[in-house]
Amino acid sequence: NVRVRFAPSPTGPLHIGGARSALFNFLLARRFGGQFIVRVEDTDLERSSRESEDNILDALEWLGITWDEGIRVDGPHAPYRQTERLQTYREAADKLLAEGKAYRCYCSEEELEAERQAFAEKGELPRYGGRCRCLSADEEARFLAEGRKPVIRFRVPDEGAVAIDDLVRGHVSFECAGIGDFIIVKSDGIPTYNFAVVLDDSLMAITHVIRGEEHLSNTPRQLLIYQALGLTPPQFAHVSLILGKDRSKMSKRHGSTSVVAYQRQGYLPEALVNFLVLLGWSPGGEEEIFSLDDLIAQFSLDRVAKSPAVFDFEKLNWINGVYLRKADLDRLVALAMPHLIEAGVVQEPLDETAARKVRYMVQAIQEKISYMAQITDFIPLFFGDDVTFESDEAKAVMVEEQVPEVLKAFLRKLSEGRDLTPDNIKAMLKEVTKETKQKGRNVFMPIRVALTGQQHGPDLNALIAALGRESAVTRLRRTAE
Ligand code: GLU
Repeated sequence: NVRVRFAPSPTGPLHIGGARSALFNFLLARRFGGQFIVRVEDTDLERSSRESEDNILDALEWLGITWDEGIRVDGPHAPYRQTERLQTYREAADKLLAEGKAYRCYCSEEELEAERQAFAEKGELPRYGGRCRCLSADEEARFLAEGRKPVIRFRVPDEGAVAIDDLVRGHVSFECAGIGDFIIVKSDGIPTYNFAVVLDDSLMAITHVIRGEEHLSNTPRQLLIYQALGLTPPQFAHVSLILGKDRSKMSKRHGSTSVVAYQRQGYLPEALVNFLVLLGWSPGGEEEIFSLDDLIAQFSLDRVAKSPAVFDFEKLNWINGVYLRKADLDRLVALAMPHLIEAGVVQEPLDETAARKVRYMVQAIQEKISYMAQITDFIPLFFGDDVTFESDEAKAVMVEEQVPEVLKAFLRKLSEGRDLTPDNIKAMLKEVTKETKQKGRNVFMPIRVALTGQQHGPDLNALIAALGRESAVTRLRRTAE
């Protein structure tokens, strides 16, 4: 049975990298009929917030990543927030203390800092030197009397190594000597990540831990804790970093790193999922478009690459464009509304005319955009009737010989009172072509330029439908003069 989990720290919005980890876990669970658990690692009291937690969970739901146990859905291992599981960690820490596998450390921040500097001066990796490893009961009593508040440290073996057979990275080994006795419970009684995560993963019977490569160096510490508590560790799969195009670690400098930013820009969740899965996984063929169901059928860890993934915005836009063109018009209209409202060109609730306009506008630009926020680039084309020619070349179209006759014929069609749907407009333009005995281009181009001032642009039939009779006639008359 496969049991996997996503365990975010609620210290900010859901990141691209976190979303990818969640996705890989989710896919593995779905592929093998296992369970996917979402829990929250909120032991950093200062930086954790409910707001971040909600942002993360909302973003997962938006992506269509669902979970079987955990926060918001409950389950047999509740509670799913670490701050609500302190008793569990306390008991485990007591056990390690009683067995001498952990000890209380009373060193002050200043003492530790001095030690770190001393190591650095010797050119060694800073670590805890073990000053409190063998304190007598008297010494401990004296420190307590001084008002010192102890942390609990894990006693790392002096020699030997910890080996990981990582499902992505292969065999990796860490020398114990380089690790240093690390803190498992802070002086306020709150466990550290490395300690709490072991107990959670073990109690929740997690079989595979799929997480970012940045956690690889934590894994030997966690394995030592499993050993000390006599617990069986899960298998680990550390997924490579996500880099920006300049090959440095992906950061805000490269563009948005939070999922919600892409949601706001009008990306589609299934497109983002498709893009995210390809940051590290590939099925091995040429195909790059995958629905969630395709992914569930095909995902496996042995096709997750070791090498870093590069976040390529052009590729994301390409993928999103593919999904936008396939999407249902009602859905696209709903996606467009916040952008048009924010731009101040429509208001909710829409009256019938405005609803029609927005609908045809979205239809007209559907092929032209990569994400919905780009709809605002087209506002001048659809709202207000100030047409300016984009170039002399466009202007020149308007003085072609056939233009007066074409415009007149089209204006006549517009005055016939037919409902201006894109289909009817298409038929009307065809009739104009026939009646004037012109080639298509000689009809479409001047009408497009007369309406928009541009030689290229959104779908002409839907554009005219969006403009409506009055606006189309105004524009045609004005530019024809
Ligand atoms: N809370 C950790 C993070 O957000 C997750 C670590 C893990 O998956 O073990 O990076």
